[in-house]
Amino acid sequence: MARLAQTAGLTDIQREILATVRGFVDKEVIPHAQELEHGDTYPEDIVAGMKEMGLFGLTIPEEYGGLGESLLTYALVVEEIARGWMSVSGVINTHFIVAHMIKQHGTPEQKEYFLPRMATGEVRGAFSMSEPDLGSDVAAIKTRAKRDGDDYVIDGQKMWLTNGGTSTLVAVLAKTDEGAAKPHQNLTAFLVEKPAGFGEVVPGLTIPGKIDKMGYKGVDTTEAVFSGFRVPASRVLAEAPGKGFAQMMDGVEVGRVNVAARACGIAIRAFELAVEYAQQRRTFGKPIAEHQAIAFKLAEMATKVEAAHLMMVNAARLKDSGQRNDVEAGMAKLIASEYCAEVTQESFRIHGGYGYSKEYEIERLMREAPFLLIGEGTSEIQKTIISRGLLREYKSRG
Ligand SMILES: Cc1cc2nc3c(=O)[nH]c(=O)nc-3n(C[C@H](O)[C@H](O)[C@H](O)COP(=O)(O)OP(=O)(O)OC[C@H]3O[C@@H](n4cnc5c(N)ncnc54)[C@H](O)[C@@H]3O)c2cc1C
Repeated sequence: MARLAQTAGLTDIQREILATVRGFVDKEVIPHAQELEHGDTYPEDIVAGMKEMGLFGLTIPEEYGGLGESLLTYALVVEEIARGWMSVSGVINTHFIVAHMIKQHGTPEQKEYFLPRMATGEVRGAFSMSEPDLGSDVAAIKTRAKRDGDDYVIDGQKMWLTNGGTSTLVAVLAKTDEGAAKPHQNLTAFLVEKPAGFGEVVPGLTIPGKIDKMGYKGVDTTEAVFSGFRVPASRVLAEAPGKGFAQMMDGVEVGRVNVAARACGIAIRAFELAVEYAQQRRTFGKPIAEHQAIAFKLAEMATKVEAAHLMMVNAARLKDSGQRNDVEAGMAKLIASEYCAEVTQESFRIHGGYGYSKEYEIERLMREAPFLLIGEGTSEIQKTIISRGLLREYKSRG
């Protein structure tokens, strides 16, 4: 993209990483995305390529074998990947969240044990908060973990685990009995190891098959059923029962920047497709781009792409500087996902009837964009977070 979604002030290393990823996406992702997506096929070769580039260890500190890059670098990489195919960014997203949680909160032993193998992609992370009866209302979690000697025993059902089948490490949020009055203070995060696959993968833990989704195909999204599943107490994140809610929310906050980045990537691609098509397709004796109604659509789409990108970059930079970014991450996620849905819809309209054909990429983007309105917290939940933060900041003195 020559003009849109540029980022000022990047280092040479960041520019080099982004150029490498962009080249990979243009050569290895875009030409295969349509076929893999329509077949709901896991992108093995693309994942192998990402491993080779070190993307699974992008943000893991160098002392643990990663590249030690910032959230901003990660978000810009995700934007590039989602421009090619959103499902591929889904493969690394939950991994990145779990690595972030271990890096920020894990004990020295947990970091030594997991991070080096996460950096190579040998261990692959998924994270699990949602349940069949709840997604937004995390504090209402029903899955229980009861202490039994040196172990906890987990019982309950989890829903919507992205990478549930392909991962080998799942950060699971469950209810423990800490005796706290506030429900969220009775939640604990567990680092659950399991082999990749489906069925009863270890005694007491079943990963039923893939959920058949409208889009975001290729990457597996599953349920997880825990029935008398034993996990050592040493696998409580930070060995700190009752702290799981805060730890997971820290993960979700970086996840929100990442979802914003994905939305930017899809919107960029939808714009690219529209601007190209509008100059090729002729009606009433001229390219449709020369009809003002279409040219104005392009102008509005590009403005939305630019605004979303800048807010996403701002939220990532705030987090990298060590400042709280819940409001900015919420705003970036809200605007990027809503704009992504709008830009994709406009690109679809510009394609006329062909946009409805499975031969055209915009058909896939139309099915991918809605997920971003839901994942890592719906738009309503983002507005709740933003307004709470603002009311804290602008507290009335009256
Ligand atoms: C493809 C896919 C992948 C996912 N991957 C993961 C994953 O890897 N890990 C994971 O833990 N979860 C995952 N999720 C779950 C996702 O985070 C939840 O679906 C999401 O948080 C919404 O929860 P819900 O579906 O239970 O909707 P609900 O919480 O039931 O919400 C339903 C509607 O009510 C609105 N609503 C709810 N509460 C309020 C309120 N207080 N005020 C105003 N409106 C409200 C919502 O905005 C929404 O419109 C995934 C979901 C999908 C679809």
